[in-house]
Amino acid sequence: MSFNSLGLSDSLLKAISKKGYTTPSPIQQKAIPPILEGKDVLASAQTGTGKTAGFTLPILQLLSQGQQLRQRPIRALILTPTRELAAQILANIKEYSAFLDLNSTVIFGGVNQNPQVTQLRQGVDILVATPGRLIDLQNQGLISLAKVEILVLDEADRMLDMGFVRDIERIIKVLPTKRQNLMFSATFSTDIKKLAMGILHHPVHVEATPENTTVDAITQIVYPVAKEKKTELIIKLITEGNWKQILVFTRTKQGANKLTESMISAGIKAAAIHGNKGQGARTKALAGFKDGSLTALVATDIAARGLDIPLLPHVVNFELPNIPEDYVHRIGRTGRAGANGEAISLFSPDETVFLRDIEKLVGLKLPKENIKGFEPDPNASKEPIKQGQGRQQRDSTPRKPKTETTNRTSNNSFGPRRPSQNNDRRSNR
Ligand code: AMP
Repeated sequence: MSFNSLGLSDSLLKAISKKGYTTPSPIQQKAIPPILEGKDVLASAQTGTGKTAGFTLPILQLLSQGQQLRQRPIRALILTPTRELAAQILANIKEYSAFLDLNSTVIFGGVNQNPQVTQLRQGVDILVATPGRLIDLQNQGLISLAKVEILVLDEADRMLDMGFVRDIERIIKVLPTKRQNLMFSATFSTDIKKLAMGILHHPVHVEATPENTTVDAITQIVYPVAKEKKTELIIKLITEGNWKQILVFTRTKQGANKLTESMISAGIKAAAIHGNKGQGARTKALAGFKDGSLTALVATDIAARGLDIPLLPHVVNFELPNIPEDYVHRIGRTGRAGANGEAISLFSPDETVFLRDIEKLVGLKLPKENIKGFEPDPNASKEPIKQGQGRQQRDSTPRKPKTETTNRTSNNSFGPRRPSQNNDRRSNR
């Protein structure tokens, strides 16, 4: 299938070709036609699947065909859980709308609101927003959503995880009742289904790939290792393997900081990215990682959500996630858009239950390989880490509404496989 056959306008096709896309990804093939028909869509899709273009291209087409109002009220509202994702979506919209007369902007918290307000005053057709800042500006009477025709909830599961459900409800109350609704989520818990039922009208369900399976292009390997030797092992892997770009996941913010410090002491250019980091530090770390000045980015699950880091060669689970779906999301950061990647898990005996749950979810027995000198004590306790203790420190602790401080990763690929679904356990975190 080609983009031509999806019924997109010449201006959009020109922008798509400028981006270098030749074939629509599965989610684009499935989502674009019903959106163009004005239908509500409920899509199972994650970052990395091309979902952003899947909803922004048809939105741009619909808005450019619609009646242009002189004052340019906000006609499409895209809600996202995190600042990084919001910024990324806007960047995509700008590129796709290069040949259209449509204005777009982004608003999110953690930065001065004035430049955002100035932008809004100039007239905006498409607004990308995190819920907290949107409500703040709305409460100050600085924004009107009375003319919204299309609402997108992107990464809806993450928005619920981050405690945004009340904010979403409040926002929906001020939107016109007649509108088109699009909802994207990587997972479909009971809460997500409930949210979808309350918002969408007779939605078309689209899903590009099977659930909870891992991407074929990813080589997965588990290194059993004594817990106290994990830091030494990862440093050895990076330095001896001469790795240039590696994304490392830890379970906690403190863990991410500690590992980053150890890496820096060992001469590895590293930075941590998690919810306690300010926006400036997060942006800088991500930019450094993308441009190659940083070798390792150490992230918590929530912090990595939505990051668009193309063609990542290595992902390392420094600690296994206790939510098995997070494993699929994490490793989906590699092998993206058809590229090959390697996902390594450093597995200590206390993570036995986590590994079992992951293998159950992905339906695979992950290959294990011992590294001489790092093997765990065969008699070490297999008792899992205490949940309560871990949760205290987790970056994914449900946070108060309106503080869209963080972020977390998801997956993956234009290939045929894709992970993740239903995890009511997520809401317990
Ligand atoms: P997304 O899932 O929207 O975050 O997109 C993931 C990455 O795929 C981004 O870098 C997009 O620019 C890229 N992408 C989106 N659609 C296509 C396509 N049809 N062909 C190739 N790359 C694409």
